[in-house]
Amino acid sequence: MYFHLIAFLLLSIVFPVQLMAEELVVSSAYEGGSAEVIEIDQRKRAIKIRPAGDPQFGWPCWWYFQVTGVTPGEEISVTVDASELKQANGRKFSAIWALPNQAAFSTNQKEWQQTPPGIRNKETCQWKVKIEANKVWFAWGPPFVPTDAQELVKELSKKHAHATAFELCKTRAGRAVPALSVTQAKHEKDAQRMVIWVQARQHAWESGGSWVGRGFIEWAVSDDPQAVRLREKADIYFVPIMDIDNVATGNGGKSQVPHDHNRDWTKTSQWNSVKSAMQYLKEFDQAKRLVLFVDLHNPGANSKLPFFYVAPPELATKRGSQLQSAFIAACSREMKTPFRLSNSTPSTGPKYDKRWKAISSNWVRSETHEYVVGITLETCWNTPHSTTAGYMAVGKQLGRGIARYLENDPRKPHDFD
Ligand SMILES: [Zn+2]
Repeated sequence: MYFHLIAFLLLSIVFPVQLMAEELVVSSAYEGGSAEVIEIDQRKRAIKIRPAGDPQFGWPCWWYFQVTGVTPGEEISVTVDASELKQANGRKFSAIWALPNQAAFSTNQKEWQQTPPGIRNKETCQWKVKIEANKVWFAWGPPFVPTDAQELVKELSKKHAHATAFELCKTRAGRAVPALSVTQAKHEKDAQRMVIWVQARQHAWESGGSWVGRGFIEWAVSDDPQAVRLREKADIYFVPIMDIDNVATGNGGKSQVPHDHNRDWTKTSQWNSVKSAMQYLKEFDQAKRLVLFVDLHNPGANSKLPFFYVAPPELATKRGSQLQSAFIAACSREMKTPFRLSNSTPSTGPKYDKRWKAISSNWVRSETHEYVVGITLETCWNTPHSTTAGYMAVGKQLGRGIARYLENDPRKPHDFD
């Protein structure tokens, strides 16, 4: 007994405390996980990884891993090495996409916080965080995986009589794509009701899009009088994750081979969730019910405010442009804090991408009625407010913007006609 105590005291003096700490173990073998361990320095409590996405399945900028063996209260150092990332064609992939100024971390995979700003060194970045638990998860940004999508639609349909979970389709790999429809029961047979469609994650790595979507849909089913008024006029369709397979496997999705979900909106589309979404949208449009389509994304690392990609001149009609401007104006009256909506409105025309016509918003613009606004919202990910709360605030404000815009039925002639 005494011997053990003495031995312990001696060991404590001879060896630094770190040596007696449990071994740090890194794992990414779970839904959405992605990390290749380069080095774990047990003495320095420092972990170095690189994102492990296969470029064939999209930009390898996403990373997400678990660390066990943490001594509560100790500081863990995480370094992400993005110097050797490749695109599908073998060319170098820019490190900037994989290295947020502040990464995300969580001790329960539910509440996500930002790390303090990292220290950039060429194409690596190091973040140091004091962890008050024995395990922790680190990620590029707050993760939102297929299980989160499933739970969100299930929970909302349980809680709200007017919300119904449904399966958009099964993916090629056989995974379910969860979705939610919101329809006021008394109007179920009303063939005139407007339809709005909001979707996220055609690009798997852009997890912020799903959080914006969650903020939107939780507001849309709420008791907020503006949301109630919106539901009296319009049915709402929401898809939290379009590219379920790449989100599940921790791949980036964007620019995957042969093309990603947001370059697949054609007569010969190959991704099931795109095919299914197109079918729904066509049907709603033929019934003259579809009025709005919003596609949620995260933009480049240097964007500091949310912005919309608008119709390129090739697809802009006078009335379409007027309605699009009215929609953006309604949103900018709502989007104030933590971000104001940027005045910048770039477009996705032929100069943007050679498959520009197969981008979802452009497909909507060219294949549906002139009064349908099809638009892409890009919410910045590389700012101190790019948190779950910040993203959800943008989503809620998007909802308020939509409600404001639909105060006048866009299918009817407006003052500006
Ligand atoms: Zn995107």
